[in-house]
Amino acid sequence: MHKLLSCLLLLVPLLGSGQATSTLLRPAAVFDGQDLHPGWAVLVKGDKIKALGPAAQLTAPAGTTTLELPGLTLLPGLIEGHSHLLLHPYNETSWNDQVLTEPLALRVARATVHAQRTLQAGFTTARDLGTEGAGYADVGLKQAIDQGIIPGPRLLVATRALVATGSYGPHLAAVEDLPQGAQEADGVDGIIRAVREQIGHGADVIKVYADYRWGLGGTAQPTFSQDELALIVQTARSAGRGVVAHASTAEGMRRATLAGVETIEHGDGGTLEVFRLMKQRGVAFCPTVAATDATSQYRGWKKGQQPEPQRILDKRRAMQAARQAGVTLAVGGDVGVFAHGDNVREMELLVQEYGLGPLEVLRAATSGNARIFHLADRGRLAPGLLADLVAVAGDPTQQVQALRQVKLVMKGGTVVAL
Ligand SMILES: [Zn+2]
Repeated sequence: MHKLLSCLLLLVPLLGSGQATSTLLRPAAVFDGQDLHPGWAVLVKGDKIKALGPAAQLTAPAGTTTLELPGLTLLPGLIEGHSHLLLHPYNETSWNDQVLTEPLALRVARATVHAQRTLQAGFTTARDLGTEGAGYADVGLKQAIDQGIIPGPRLLVATRALVATGSYGPHLAAVEDLPQGAQEADGVDGIIRAVREQIGHGADVIKVYADYRWGLGGTAQPTFSQDELALIVQTARSAGRGVVAHASTAEGMRRATLAGVETIEHGDGGTLEVFRLMKQRGVAFCPTVAATDATSQYRGWKKGQQPEPQRILDKRRAMQAARQAGVTLAVGGDVGVFAHGDNVREMELLVQEYGLGPLEVLRAATSGNARIFHLADRGRLAPGLLADLVAVAGDPTQQVQALRQVKLVMKGGTVVAL
């Protein structure tokens, strides 16, 4: 591994020079986002894929650098569907304390490390769904990555996210006007203004909390009205942005679906009926099973020794209903709740605990997420697409754990140092 890496590191300046350098990657097999092709190779020119196919049939131009990758599978860079680069695990610091007490510079400094770890884990793109009180810091992070100042994945950012007044946190019954983890907006004027503000500041996608645990009882309840949600989607869509909804109640999911959101996150209380509606309306489901698994353990669940808590049972039931309804799955773990760089955990749990096949999960995290997020230039390996590639030891279409064995990450034709 380290021998291979030290050779690769020598290539970094060469590949990063901006000239249309050609590289031929010769792994044991290529997963193209759909199927596994043993004996294939991939030719990269500049920042794009030039060609791929059986190694013997690929002719490389003079001056091409060849990377021999024996025993490795080469696949499209993975796409994280739900991260929060500005958060770190809640068992280190509670969400409330992160939002209320951590200075912005501290949060951003930490986020730069999170971005690097995400990339090193083979995730060359991430949909980052809200800064949780860190304003528009995600836009700055994205710029720093795009300008080559810090290493990180290509980002789709949601900026502040939208919540109905009073419905989000932090909340202390005795204290008024605490800083909030998202932007409060209500009613026609307020919502239109907030969506436009976020887009103006750089939001690629609008995130809305369609329900949340609010009030003293803390039970999840719908927040925005049907009309408000529809207006959010309409305002975002007219500016070419899609909307993603946090929703864990059946009613919040139903309203978000009818409003025209593109993905629903969490979905713990989803019924067969609401998942069928999502299927009918083409709304994808991002179950974030890893976040539920992590927070349940933070709350004291001894996994493997104690019976599964109700939250896990709810997630199982929701996943079963979603599968039965045939809803398209997006893959995203709500990373930040647990450690950045451990993004593969979501895929592992989907296979090991929710009964999905490794091939299905791998397709979902590459070509599937790309399709759902409208990223036509990546998620698959085909001529003309971005040369965002990951090489892992073994065959991840058979063993999801192979994704832990990242040996090479290439982003835009440049080998990224591990
Ligand atoms: Zn989240």
